[in-house]
Amino acid sequence: MPLNFLLFSGQKKRRPDRPEKQKKIILIKNKKIPYTLKRSYRARHLSISINSAGKISATLPNSISLSKLEGFMQSRSNWIQRTVSRVTRTPPSLLEQGTRDQFLKSKSVARRLVLAKIRHFNKYYQFQINRVFIRDQKSRWGSCSAKKNLNFNWRVVFLGQKHLDYLIVHELCHLEQLNHSPKFWQLVAKTIPQFKQTRKEMRQL
Ligand SMILES: [Zn+2]
Repeated sequence: MPLNFLLFSGQKKRRPDRPEKQKKIILIKNKKIPYTLKRSYRARHLSISINSAGKISATLPNSISLSKLEGFMQSRSNWIQRTVSRVTRTPPSLLEQGTRDQFLKSKSVARRLVLAKIRHFNKYYQFQINRVFIRDQKSRWGSCSAKKNLNFNWRVVFLGQKHLDYLIVHELCHLEQLNHSPKFWQLVAKTIPQFKQTRKEMRQL
């Protein structure tokens, strides 16, 4: 028996299946999809797996070419995309909920709620306010403009008292400090001493 064959077969038998791992990128429908390539001596078939974090790995038997694997991944592109988006999907935030129709229906309720809270907290602060707007926006709960206008998201109707209070005070204090400086937070802390915790909670909503 030729020596090289002996070496080869011996190696094959004893070799533990510790596949060689490589980071790769494949272009699927014009999107760069990273995956881990595992070259395996033991595997008989091409396989693709997606873990609970949405990470893709592909096992490639040593006897099969990389281009075959990539062709295989392309042919399974719908399944890959569907599975990755299913496992990585996070529930939509409160800011992404509600329709335009709900906005129109809830606008006046939101306005009343906001104005009552502003009146309450501004008894203390006594800031000068120009106008208050209720808006339909998906990115923020509220804002304050240099013209001293306050804007609030209509989704304030979904908020609990604690979060609504914090939001109102936060925007009110921007009338005095149009920034997030220590001075600004000192103003907030005058009526919401636990603002740090509440602020953190608001980000999770
Ligand atoms: Zn702010």
